[in-house]
Amino acid sequence: MTARLDRPIARLADDFDVVVIGGGITGVCVAREAASRGLRTALLERDDFGSGTSSATTKYIHGGIRYLEQYDVAVVRESLRERRILALGAPHLVEQTQFIMPAWRWSKPPTPLLGAGVLLYDALSFDRNVAAPDSLRIPHPKWLSKSALLKRVPWLDADGLQGGFAYHDTLNLHPERLLLAYAQSAAAAGAVLINHITVDSFVGHDVAGDFLVEGVHATDRLTGRSLEVRARVVVNAAGPWIDKVLGTLGRPTGVGVDRSKGVHVLTRPLGGGVVRDAVFARAQSGRHVIVSPWMGKSFIGPTDTPINESDPVVTPDDVDLILDTVNSTMSAAEAPLTFDDVELTTIGVRPLIKHTDTTVDPTDMSNTPDDGGDTYSASRRHELYHHVDRGVRNLWSIGGGKWTTARATAEEMVDELAAHELTGVPMRGFDTRSAAAHGTFAWADDAEPFLASAATSLVEAGLSSQSAELVARLYGTDHRKIAELVSDDPDLARPIAGSGDVEAQVIVAVVDEAARTLADIIDRRLVLGTVSRVPETAIRRIAHIAAPLLGWDDTRRDHEIRAELDRRAALDSHWRISPARA
Ligand SMILES: Cc1cc2nc3c(=O)[nH]c(=O)nc-3n(C[C@H](O)[C@H](O)[C@H](O)COP(=O)(O)OP(=O)(O)OC[C@H]3O[C@@H](n4cnc5c(N)ncnc54)[C@H](O)[C@@H]3O)c2cc1C
Repeated sequence: MTARLDRPIARLADDFDVVVIGGGITGVCVAREAASRGLRTALLERDDFGSGTSSATTKYIHGGIRYLEQYDVAVVRESLRERRILALGAPHLVEQTQFIMPAWRWSKPPTPLLGAGVLLYDALSFDRNVAAPDSLRIPHPKWLSKSALLKRVPWLDADGLQGGFAYHDTLNLHPERLLLAYAQSAAAAGAVLINHITVDSFVGHDVAGDFLVEGVHATDRLTGRSLEVRARVVVNAAGPWIDKVLGTLGRPTGVGVDRSKGVHVLTRPLGGGVVRDAVFARAQSGRHVIVSPWMGKSFIGPTDTPINESDPVVTPDDVDLILDTVNSTMSAAEAPLTFDDVELTTIGVRPLIKHTDTTVDPTDMSNTPDDGGDTYSASRRHELYHHVDRGVRNLWSIGGGKWTTARATAEEMVDELAAHELTGVPMRGFDTRSAAAHGTFAWADDAEPFLASAATSLVEAGLSSQSAELVARLYGTDHRKIAELVSDDPDLARPIAGSGDVEAQVIVAVVDEAARTLADIIDRRLVLGTVSRVPETAIRRIAHIAAPLLGWDDTRRDHEIRAELDRRAALDSHWRISPARA
């Protein structure tokens, strides 16, 4: 088996044990888990792997300290256990980050309660350092005096500041690449993963009033071709869209989704780029955002706004909310952030467990939160729905969850399949908790020596040191593919628009990583689309390299360039407002 993602659509004619709908982190982890246990597995993603909520996160593999305020201790404990498992399985794509929770005289919860929460968080992560190399070890939290805190985070408002609690969580450096690594692991285990294919409805028939699912009807969005994919059981892992997928059954399933919009902004670095800690900036209003130093800038968010629609856009109000919150925690010496400081935004929809088991009318696609809209305090737990209870056999849906807990959810999901629809199907053992993600040089090892030697060989191949360091991180052991391409054609070491990406990555994206659109390449294979606004020249250059590999003639290439320019402009146009308003 190969880890190569090459969109093997002809293989969808096979009979599968499991078909997974959705290529976010949940679906990808289910596919990895199922295929690794020897199940014949297919995953169908309507857009690109990770293009939904999974690429719009705050970038933390974390326990979720603030869920302690909701007494969600079980979710926090599970997440802390998973934080360790994910970090050890991909040391090159994570970094332990110190978080600061500043305490002002007016803080709510009050300082002693914040301290108690931090201590409980630490206690719940009792196994955090088991088998961890020094670089991934997490120390106990500590209290920083006001002066020590201001030295580390000079942009904080000193007025009423008492000091701050310092604790650690794990930065998911490039969630798109870690998700891809799991997709590659699934492919290496034999799963068939196809992006740009939409599941339209279920294949099946009625038996004594029940609907027996036998697979799915799907449309290949690249060719328009309709397909039928047959499987013993289907797992609906469509995240915030699970109810839409279930809606095609035409009967109530009792499953709904509460949706919450989450926005981040990427800005100039607060504190001038010297701050290394992430800051939990809680304003007097009670709102908070996390300010993370990331790729030389500040990544700030998220918002948490209940919504009815499933495909929202970023509005000026979202950006205002983030800027107001962070500005109100800043010292007068730091210039307040304005709209002009925002380079780009991200947006995702949290799929949250609906509070009550309302029977969803299949014709009603709206989903108003039951309590009038407090998604901030809604639990981040996950739920597995077995639709047999409502007369639909061979179908499961996965609701809620977090990026951090997706692997555990997948393990539980495949255990359920083994206990129900797939009893008697032979499976092999799979040590999911200590299986490294594709590209990992060694499980639970210190990444630094590997990254240093990979970067040296990439520099020898012709990359700049900035690009070499980035490529080593993004690709892990696959950095050799980039080195080989550059050795054959030194021009492919050319950097793209100052992001650190090089042209050889475009080739790997298309040939080995199933990128089929310019957005796939720019936003989820390279870092270009996530670190800054993307200049038109870069889009043109990428299209020029990708076109022959994707079979695009000049007309098609120009059309794709235009479409990508328009798409990016539209994303910005929803929130970018005149400097006068800012
Ligand atoms: C702003 C924000 C910040 C977050 N920060 C964190 C964080 O720091 N750490 C953390 O652990 N969690 C975080 N989360 C939560 C986490 O991102 C989500 O729980 C997780 O990504 C959900 O993954 P998923 O695979 O279930 O959904 P998605 O990633 O949305 O994947 C579902 C996929 O299904 C596909 N799909 C839908 N319909 C169909 C169809 N008909 N056919 C085929 N495919 C279909 C979609 O295209 C999509 O790719 C955050 C969430 C948000 C919104």
